[in-house]
Amino acid sequence: MIQNLWKKQNTLSFEVFPPKKEGELESAFEVLDSLGALQPDFISVTYGAGGSRSKKTIELASYIQNQLHITALPHMTCVGNKKEELLAVYEELKQKNINHVLALRGDRPKDMTDEQFDKRDFEFASDMVSYLKQNTDLHIAGACYPEKHYQCFSMETDLLHLKEKQDAGADFLITQLFFDNDYFYQFRDRARNKGITIPICAGIMPITSAKQIGTTISLSGSSVPKALTDIIANYGENPEEMRKAGIDYAIRQIQDLKQNQVDGIHIYTMNKPKMAAEIITAIQ
Ligand code: FAD
Repeated sequence: MIQNLWKKQNTLSFEVFPPKKEGELESAFEVLDSLGALQPDFISVTYGAGGSRSKKTIELASYIQNQLHITALPHMTCVGNKKEELLAVYEELKQKNINHVLALRGDRPKDMTDEQFDKRDFEFASDMVSYLKQNTDLHIAGACYPEKHYQCFSMETDLLHLKEKQDAGADFLITQLFFDNDYFYQFRDRARNKGITIPICAGIMPITSAKQIGTTISLSGSSVPKALTDIIANYGENPEEMRKAGIDYAIRQIQDLKQNQVDGIHIYTMNKPKMAAEIITAIQ
């Protein structure tokens, strides 16, 4: 088990999400078994907007940590959590031998009132990172955005806030997904120039259907380069060809990142172990 993830170089990791419906945990465990067989350095588990499905996040993280013996990185958000609740989650994580979290601000869920949203104890992720560093022994990851966070008016300011996240105690970073590596390289250079020295894992999401691209862009705000729109135009109507071309695109992105000394690759697996396996085979 890797205790100090950020000290390791060239990490390979996956993201999974907890099942939306009750009674689907068994199939989630099967997904984890298959992903675990690919021996990633860690597997992160998303946290439903505003804290929904948080119990399942911990349940999956515990399975990863204690059954698969792979480092689990449960996500945690400021939105939907008070200080006491965070500490209660920390106690639960400790009991389950989990000592890493990805600390996020979170977005406002549709069903949350203004009052609930504004009442959160931590305004920004770095406030939560700082609190967790002072009150727990967790190792903490943070999020970052090669194309800038959608609410920030400039990359310069976003990077200053990112530096605050590092100063608050974040040990490493995972990027928002991106489809154009040039954005990542420019972002990494600018971050290093600002004194952000912690490892930056590149988040890659393979696009395996034409439908997926619309949802992905609306959630992430990431731009789509011509090479990818061409794939969708050429293969969008043919599910099998589209899947193949989308995976191939992600493989080429990862190979290029590895040639350019990326600190880590984090694959947004969408709970699809077969796809992850195809990518891992190709990049090894
Ligand atoms: P922050 O780092 O707090 O930044 C948010 C905005 O505030 C930015 O514009 C930043 O520039 C600005 N800011 C920061 N500090 C200050 C300051 N001191 N003063 C003024 N402005 C400031 N969401 C979920 O709900 N569940 C998940 O599981 C989840 N997983 C994710 C995993 C990854 C790898 C990524 C990249 C995102 C994930 N998200 C998740 C989405 C995330 O919650 C949103 O992108 C959210 O809008 C920002 O979260 P953050 O932690 O980056 O926020």
